[in-house]
Amino acid sequence: MPGAMSKDLLKKLPAIDKWLASLGGQDLCAEFSHVEVAEVMRAHLTELRRALTNGGAELPEFESPEYCMLLRADLLKGRISSFRRTINATGIIIHTNLGRAPLADEAIAAIENTASGYSNLELDLDTGKRGSRYRHVESLLTRLTGAEATVVVNNCAAAVLLALNTVAKDGEAIISRGELVEIGGSFRIPDVIAQSGARMIEVGTTNKTHLEDYAAALSENTRVLLAIHPSNFRVVGFTAKPKLAALAELAHDNETLLMEDLGSGSLVDLSVSGLSSEPTVQRSLAAGVDLLTFSGDKLLGGPQAGIILGRAGLIDSIKRNPLLRALRIDKLSLAALAATLRLYVPPNDPYERVPVLRMISEDQASVGRRASKLLRLLKKIPGLTGVVKDDISYSGGGSLPMDEIPTKVVEIRAERLTATELAKRLRASETPVIGRIADDVLHLDLRTVLARELSDLAAALEQAVT
Ligand SMILES: *Cc1c(COP(=O)(O)O)cnc(C)c1O
Repeated sequence: MPGAMSKDLLKKLPAIDKWLASLGGQDLCAEFSHVEVAEVMRAHLTELRRALTNGGAELPEFESPEYCMLLRADLLKGRISSFRRTINATGIIIHTNLGRAPLADEAIAAIENTASGYSNLELDLDTGKRGSRYRHVESLLTRLTGAEATVVVNNCAAAVLLALNTVAKDGEAIISRGELVEIGGSFRIPDVIAQSGARMIEVGTTNKTHLEDYAAALSENTRVLLAIHPSNFRVVGFTAKPKLAALAELAHDNETLLMEDLGSGSLVDLSVSGLSSEPTVQRSLAAGVDLLTFSGDKLLGGPQAGIILGRAGLIDSIKRNPLLRALRIDKLSLAALAATLRLYVPPNDPYERVPVLRMISEDQASVGRRASKLLRLLKKIPGLTGVVKDDISYSGGGSLPMDEIPTKVVEIRAERLTATELAKRLRASETPVIGRIADDVLHLDLRTVLARELSDLAAALEQAVT
């Protein structure tokens, strides 16, 4: 209960209107909007009321220049964008919460070039007539993958929804119980099938599904056999599933289709860089998949996008589906996607030019050199100590879940802060830094930190301890 004293003080708190009309209030209103100033004043009053009720505060001089400075500082904080460039020191390369794939320089330049003026997005320069936005990536995608045709949409979830809605609405989609996947962020394959208007026919078991299980479920209502790449998990041990080519043959013998959602969809064979073999887009198409979907911002290393590849007739039907307009890709993503795809065309080496592939394949010693550089910068910051250690990075983004990529981390200890407090302050710095805490120590994995980010990273650390 507030004592008699603080009750009197509570009565002395200014009314917002009067405070706004004061000289200081008017000054602030010249620089910020009325609404913003009133909001900050209200927040200060609420805080004061709470403190006074608990009996532990004095009244400030509301109209003093010093107090106005305090309000102004809060107003400026409110103006900083909540959406900021962030340093990813988690070692998880395709980190969904941190925006997945950082783009290649060429893709960034393409976005800038497209955004800064008009473009021939839907204009055919040869004829001067209306053209299709999809043609800007068509020949790149078909040449790189061997697919007959392609169309791209907003993301892979949209690609699955659109493809299924086009080929299986009001019909049946047969899927293995081992592939009823949840991708994360509430994207569940059974829900997407339901939204597409197709009826899901589950076959097999969690660990084993045989070709005969699919065959037994075929009916005159079957529109598609649906294979889903279990991106973010593996079932190991007593398991079985038919080869993609066998599924394709079964589908075609029964005048139906095989569709595969690859999700992570790589255009390069990562097993050559020592990682387990994630299925490639080309391999799936060669096995006879009729429609294939994958993400633009996972292993491909491009912008958010959903890529649909497949037979020309099917892609034509998809292009005529009115849903396409609702799910379409915007011009900036399209520009970045085209630029990213060009980095896969020889003689370009995607491992050199696409950041996601560069990070996945960078060897430990090379990551270690950035770790040592950070350590040297750390030595100049009093109150912090660091040590370089071996650790493990992950590809993330629902790809290669079993692959442990050897990396180098800097373990950081602050004299006066717990690891949790240090991590919190790093998140609050001008360029937020995200690391990971293990055994009560903050770990910064340099695999996902670019060389040009090291000075900002050191600045954030210095800010955190001062
Ligand atoms: C990630 C993933 C998706 C969703 O992709 P978005 O581009 O995030 O929409 C769909 N299917 C699979 C198998 C995935 O791994």
